Amino acid sequence: MKPKNKTFFGRALTSRRAILKAGAAAGALGAAGLASSGTAVAAGETEAGPRSYDAIVIGGGFAGVAAARELKARGKRTLILEARDRVGGRAWSSTFSGLPIEFGATWIHPSQTLIWNEVQRLGIATVDDPNPDFTVFATESGGYARHDLTFLDNQDALLRKFVEGAQEYLPRAYDPFYREDLLVDLDKLTLGDRARQLRLSTLEQNWVSATTGAYGGGFERGSLTQLAHWWALCGYNTETFHGINVTRPVGGMSGVIRKMLAESGATVVYKAPVTKVADTGSRVQVTAGGVVYDAAAVVVAVPANVWNTINFSSGLPAEFSRMSSQTVGVPTAKKVFIQVQGDIGRPLVNGKSGAPLDLVLAHADTSSQGSVLIGFSVNPNLDANSVSQVQSAISEVLPGTKVLSVKGHDWGKDAYAKGGWTFRRPGQLLGLLRAVRQPHGRLVFAGSDIATGWGGYVDGAIETGIRAAGLAADLTVRYASATS
Ligand SMILES: Cc1cc2nc3c(=O)[nH]c(=O)nc-3n(C[C@H](O)[C@H](O)[C@H](O)COP(=O)(O)OP(=O)(O)OC[C@H]3O[C@@H](n4cnc5c(N)ncnc54)[C@H](O)[C@@H]3O)c2cc1C
Repeated sequence: MKPKNKTFFGRALTSRRAILKAGAAAGALGAAGLASSGTAVAAGETEAGPRSYDAIVIGGGFAGVAAARELKARGKRTLILEARDRVGGRAWSSTFSGLPIEFGATWIHPSQTLIWNEVQRLGIATVDDPNPDFTVFATESGGYARHDLTFLDNQDALLRKFVEGAQEYLPRAYDPFYREDLLVDLDKLTLGDRARQLRLSTLEQNWVSATTGAYGGGFERGSLTQLAHWWALCGYNTETFHGINVTRPVGGMSGVIRKMLAESGATVVYKAPVTKVADTGSRVQVTAGGVVYDAAAVVVAVPANVWNTINFSSGLPAEFSRMSSQTVGVPTAKKVFIQVQGDIGRPLVNGKSGAPLDLVLAHADTSSQGSVLIGFSVNPNLDANSVSQVQSAISEVLPGTKVLSVKGHDWGKDAYAKGGWTFRRPGQLLGLLRAVRQPHGRLVFAGSDIATGWGGYVDGAIETGIRAAGLAADLTVRYASATS
């Protein structure tokens, strides 16, 4: 029988007992540096004629690819304009020290039904990460100490205090507005406000930081209602809250999205950053790489943090600009892979609030040189590609551990993400989310950042992509009947 797991970013526990437990790339890099999946064309070229489509999808992340596939299924001639030379966006599989790694999205869970069903349907196998051997937490005196895994109970107890009452104020996980009346004051709170309400000591705050403040990009950035929303989606229990970060699709997340793209048959233009979107009322003109494409409807599936970098010349309601400048994706999010000397076992390090590394855990596999660690950080000062900075952060929590090499990605400095995983800020749920989900003229927005379900996860991206495609398809029909 398969053991039941509970994890956080790869922390897998079976109740209180620790039990130990790698895509078919449809595309490849072509001679022109264009990844080909679906039909690829170079910026400025056309596939088979005019640059005119029923629908254009801006951004080839999970939201954009799901939208394109849905549009094709509805018989719409669809183009994806993608800024990078690859699809996947904040899901990006790579290698380090001979091992497969994920710079972004990694784990999926059966409660995330959209991505889980995709993976099953596409015939992709899954694998569970092994459990940690020991954990590391802050001490009263300001240092760190090693503990066995039962110590994690302290963190869980504090987490439950944070989200106490969520079953009443967020009783329907996929309809966060259902008890809006109860959220009016709560949605104004940061995680730090909540910690103060609970009168947490500094030590308690440090113990729970990795599962609260770090998720939010800092205690004073993230909203309580976002954390509570995740808690609701996890069925209000720690088992699932940690369990969502255990199971990986073999071949990585890039393998999954390439298969979805191949199914879509959509035309993709890579290295085509969109700079201007002009909704003329009857058509939308989209400029990418100096080329103008046009369509009856457009799905904008780029991260909310980059909306303000695109010129929506016909104007958008103020909520869009406000959300983008406030940020939704955590702007300081970084992930770093760390090759250390020798086999140091499987740590689960819970960094203090503001630590250079918020969480450190072991990669599923060891390399020929020893253990490979995965670090998550929301610290603005950490250079995730600096061996010396990472060494000093590691020495603090795992003394005696020698760092040999590192490979990291700073999602906030990534021009086409400008942030990492979604974590809404106070006031965004009630004040902005509904407005940015409304179609505006011939534009419909999508992306995990504006999901009403699993925002911050691939599942939420797919949710919004499918929804936006339906709305966009209706707009193309309205256009056709208006002009016939
Ligand atoms: C470190 C990290 C760990 C994570 N871990 C997990 C996890 O374990 N499980 C999970 O489910 N989720 C995880 N997530 C979240 C997950 O990666 C995202 O929720 C999801 O991938 C977002 O998909 P999206 O399509 O909404 O946006 P994106 O993936 O960001 O896609 C947007 C696309 O738009 C493109 N783009 C941007 N600007 C332009 C432009 N001007 N013109 C054209 N194209 C443009 C981008 O290049 C990108 O391809 C993690 C995220 C991070 C950063």
